[in-house]
Amino acid sequence: MITDPALEFWLRHVAADGGLWEPAGDSAYVVLPAQLRDAYRLPEELRVTADPDVAREDGATLLTAGHPVLAEAADRVLAVGDAGYLVLDRPAGVPPGRDVLQAEVREAFPADHGRIDVSGEPAFVLHPVVRVGALVSYELSAEDRFQEEAERWVDVPSRREIPAALARSLSKALYNERTVVPPAENLLPAIGHAHRLMDSAAISRRAVLAAEVSSGFEAERGRAAAYYADAIAGIERRLATAAPDRAAVLRERLRATREEQVRRLAEIAEKYEARHVIRPYRLHVLLVPALRVAADVLRGSRRYPMSFDWLLPAGVYAPVRCPSCSAEAGLVAGKEKLGCEACLPPKPATVASATKPAAPAKPPAAKPPVAPSVTSPKPSRREAGPPQARGAQQKARAALAERVWSAVASGDRRTLARVLRPDSPAAALARVYGPAAFTGIIGMPAGEAPERFTAAVDAETVHGVLLGSSGAEYHYFIPSQDGQAAEVLPFPVIADGTFWRSYWWGRRPDARWSGPAVKGLEPVERKLAVAGRDWNGLPVAARALAAWDRLGDTRDRLLSAHQPDVLAACVIRLVAYRAGGKATFASVADHFRLAEEDVRRADRAVRPLLALGPGRPWLALRPGV
Ligand SMILES: [Zn+2]
Repeated sequence: MITDPALEFWLRHVAADGGLWEPAGDSAYVVLPAQLRDAYRLPEELRVTADPDVAREDGATLLTAGHPVLAEAADRVLAVGDAGYLVLDRPAGVPPGRDVLQAEVREAFPADHGRIDVSGEPAFVLHPVVRVGALVSYELSAEDRFQEEAERWVDVPSRREIPAALARSLSKALYNERTVVPPAENLLPAIGHAHRLMDSAAISRRAVLAAEVSSGFEAERGRAAAYYADAIAGIERRLATAAPDRAAVLRERLRATREEQVRRLAEIAEKYEARHVIRPYRLHVLLVPALRVAADVLRGSRRYPMSFDWLLPAGVYAPVRCPSCSAEAGLVAGKEKLGCEACLPPKPATVASATKPAAPAKPPAAKPPVAPSVTSPKPSRREAGPPQARGAQQKARAALAERVWSAVASGDRRTLARVLRPDSPAAALARVYGPAAFTGIIGMPAGEAPERFTAAVDAETVHGVLLGSSGAEYHYFIPSQDGQAAEVLPFPVIADGTFWRSYWWGRRPDARWSGPAVKGLEPVERKLAVAGRDWNGLPVAARALAAWDRLGDTRDRLLSAHQPDVLAACVIRLVAYRAGGKATFASVADHFRLAEEDVRRADRAVRPLLALGPGRPWLALRPGV
């Protein structure tokens, strides 16, 4: 069987241009028409394969992604283009009667609180659907390129992707090609939607492909990270014992080295950044014979008119959107309007109690920022310098540290939640372990209380030292987004989201903290919260909890196919790997006491959904984000 997308594409192109092919095991017999034989400089009859072993053993011609013949085929198809209007034939036979249309419309569009009644005689219309085909070229690094074919079918009036079964039946329907120019109303939004669907699928696909070629990136990034970690540790060591005049020079050198590190790691990430290009080669507008069924959605005495198109060749209704908000959710007959589950939620929305938006109460334990002591090795305090134009922004970010540490010191979950970015690892940390984990993650033992802190700002990161009641100092780094804390870490974050290399050498500040997770977690969270933390520490567990949380409704689908423990292991392995850890399948399976194959199987389902990558250490990629 031919499963290589590039070769499949070529075979389809050959067939479309008058050639013949038939499958033969892992290869295919092909007969080329004269013009293709000449164009590709290939024999008239040949056997082709995408499998190097088959090519070697059976003497078949190897055609894999990147082969000039495949690239030429793509260019030929794109040059010719394939666009047009197709009017599908109206099926022979009697169209369904009013009672069938009535029963089917109620079945297809269950309206909450409402009942759909067909109101008039159906009218014959041509209902437009677009079929968009494109060639997607993936560039995973300077050396690694792939091409794949993509196709999307989108209903024009509703701008919704049509179900695969409907697309199949429409592609089998007979048609007459016509050169009429039908109304092109709403065509562009539908084509745009098809492209967005292709684009978001390509982003996920790219992450999977990129993971397969990431070893070069890992190696280069690892070398650079280790180099800078050593350099910075060396300067910090000297700074710890330096005389005051020498210390100023060392602090400046430390700052310059950190800046250089961020720049260099960003350069490496950019060099390996995956890209994709979508080149459309097919645009068919199918005009599908349909019955337009006028109907009323009734709620009590209220009557909301709506119409539905019954697609005759497929025997189903075309999809619709909410007439009020254009969402794709199920219809709801409201008291005021016909809406959907998105704009008319079934239960009244609970509004958070209106607390006054004043600054959080300052707990007695936390005092205002103090100047760093001369002997403690810490980054330069820009706040201490002369006022600058961006001082206000700097102050706002430094204030974030005060709000975080005040809330942590007083154990105030609600204030803490307000200064954390929703869906972030910091939010997951607070939700699953409570405020105490914020001091635990930077190495403060459970028995110690935070007393004072310093705060300085570098770009989007607030950092400083937290002083505990024992007098010990704990370095903290809070990367923020839009003024909210996204993570709390004992080390600076590298531009691509990986952890400080020494973290993976087993020097984990949070190892001293073993606070419990809250009760009432769902099974995957429970596993991540305890076994996950034991595996690679709190910083990784917090990212994994955030990543799992971001999967939203797809979690139910995953849970129907995989054990919770397996999903927990698979998610945390991906996150640990993206944070720069080795994180092999064998090690995670061993730690979670699972079969490695089970984790690998779940990985194939979870990896494209999470779509993690350089610079995306825990975020789930979503189109438009
Ligand atoms: Zn709606």
